[in-house]
Amino acid sequence: METMTFRAMLSVTLVALAAACGSKPGGTPKTAESASGAIATEGVGQKTSSAGDTMAGKLPANHMGRIPVLEYHVIGGEKNALYTRTVASFKADLEDVYKRGYRPITIAQMLDKNFADVPDGMSPVIFVFDDASPEQFSYIQGADGKLTIDPNSGVGIWEDFMKTHPGWKNRGTFCLLNGAAAGHNFFGDNPKFHGQKKEWRFQKVKWLADQGFELCDHTVWHARLDKFSDAVVQEQIARNMMAIDSVVPGYKVRTFALPYGIWPKNRQLAWQGTWTDPKTGQAHPYKFDAVLEVSGGPTRSPYDPQFDPHSIKRVEAIADDIHKVLDGLDKNKTRFVK
Ligand SMILES: [Zn+2]
Repeated sequence: METMTFRAMLSVTLVALAAACGSKPGGTPKTAESASGAIATEGVGQKTSSAGDTMAGKLPANHMGRIPVLEYHVIGGEKNALYTRTVASFKADLEDVYKRGYRPITIAQMLDKNFADVPDGMSPVIFVFDDASPEQFSYIQGADGKLTIDPNSGVGIWEDFMKTHPGWKNRGTFCLLNGAAAGHNFFGDNPKFHGQKKEWRFQKVKWLADQGFELCDHTVWHARLDKFSDAVVQEQIARNMMAIDSVVPGYKVRTFALPYGIWPKNRQLAWQGTWTDPKTGQAHPYKFDAVLEVSGGPTRSPYDPQFDPHSIKRVEAIADDIHKVLDGLDKNKTRFVK
């Protein structure tokens, strides 16, 4: 997949990537939108279930409420940073949303208004993992050659959490890169990046799809799309989709995440376009149902007439922003409840 052309472009352009998705470092999420468009629910407090687990009580339905779409990059590191969430903080985030009565779904499920994985009286949450870093999904190879999921990688933490938290499922959205620097290539392409081997990449991506996670396009190497021609924009997007298709043949990619949250000059190319391979003359069209922004607070409900699937807002996992946003949704009774 990687031509010399792409490698050359990568070397001059990727200096600023550094696993980054955000365009405004240090910014705080906007919550102004959350005051409008929602139907207030009656106040219902938290309660403790008979099983002893702390969990949200059954809330009245609010299909016009907001849905938090949480945005993660690297899971790991010594301390939290703009694009790094420590293992401890990620685990705490999972516990927080679980106790508040949220259950995970994918962007595709939200688009389809498919809340089958969310019990009545509870709320959907969407975890989105950007940039396909090895820290999100690592294998450990045993002496016998057998691969197991690293329990300290994002997916490993998720799997352990699922075992101990009834009702938690493998639902979430991975926005992938397939040719970026520093191992951001389907979760690691060289042992120098978190010990991950190139030949493990496809197995990881296929596993995610098989489990019920959603695969999302995030360009080949995280190009800042406003800096490039329409042709390069479409090549970046189409070739990422084709790479996903080469792992899971026939997979319908429905969601695209804007690198850095930056739109191409020709905005529509973010969700629809065509790249014609100059070598084969073959056209590779793409058409997505959803485009993910980088920030903006909890997103509108798909039942809300103002819901715009081509501009889905997200909440970045920075400091305690997620906690604050969830507090705000409860305080203002603006949370989507099935
Ligand atoms: Zn990104």
